[in-house]
Amino acid sequence: MSRRRQIYEGKAKVIFEGPEPGTLVQHFKDDATAFNNRKRGTITGKGVLNNRISEYLMTRIGEIGVPTHFLRRLNMREQLIKEVEIIPIEVVVRNVAAGSISKRLGIAEGTPLPRSIIECYFKSDELDDPMVTEEHITAFAWASPAEIDEIVSMSLRINDFLSGLFFGVGIRLVDFKIEYGRLYQNDEVRIVLADEISPDSCRLWDVKTNEKLDKDRFRRDLDKIPEAYQEVARRLGILPESGPADIKGPKLMQ
Ligand code: C5P
Repeated sequence: MSRRRQIYEGKAKVIFEGPEPGTLVQHFKDDATAFNNRKRGTITGKGVLNNRISEYLMTRIGEIGVPTHFLRRLNMREQLIKEVEIIPIEVVVRNVAAGSISKRLGIAEGTPLPRSIIECYFKSDELDDPMVTEEHITAFAWASPAEIDEIVSMSLRINDFLSGLFFGVGIRLVDFKIEYGRLYQNDEVRIVLADEISPDSCRLWDVKTNEKLDKDRFRRDLDKIPEAYQEVARRLGILPESGPADIKGPKLMQ
């Protein structure tokens, strides 16, 4: 059906050439991977929900003045984005200890951190995304000192904003991973938020019960994985209005 040129296929997304120069189409798959591809599966309806959730969060973030690559949603699984040069760094912002920081530093999961902590990882599947410091980033010219300063301040702003947004719907933003790109426009280069923000890339816990509403359910072999993604979308008020036509999982809650 589609004759579009595929630019890149990742674990959870496919990137196609966009309809106009400088644009790309980001397609969200139901495929799920964890532990750098060592665990693979499918979460029915995930692509549809992540497309919606990422659209919603990127739009809200854009409204507070943080530039993003998002242009508009095209259909159930696809969104139009600006073509950017991805900076090869995964930025993780943590508010509560969980996952790798708990393991690495022996801090019990669920312990609130004294302040939000930012970590950077070098994007490399072969190397298992090693953690790096600003020294590595600037020495190897993955980003300039000015760019990394901007990335850190944008990440803290996004964290403050998203923490409040999620808290308003009864969800604790434990941690999340974001990526940035360089947007070349005329003679200018701008750093913009890229990739996605979804339950694949965030830890989201119910404020009252600490129930996990994110990909940790898949990583840790818990049940009700599609339901967790649906619950996040439901609380944000963004379930697909046409119903779960493309979602073969359990009935969506209205
Ligand atoms: O595994 P770790 O605790 O370092 O993950 C921190 C946060 O970053 C989690 O929300 C996780 O979902 C996200 N992450 C991601 N992609 C990776 C690594 C981590 O989205 N490659």
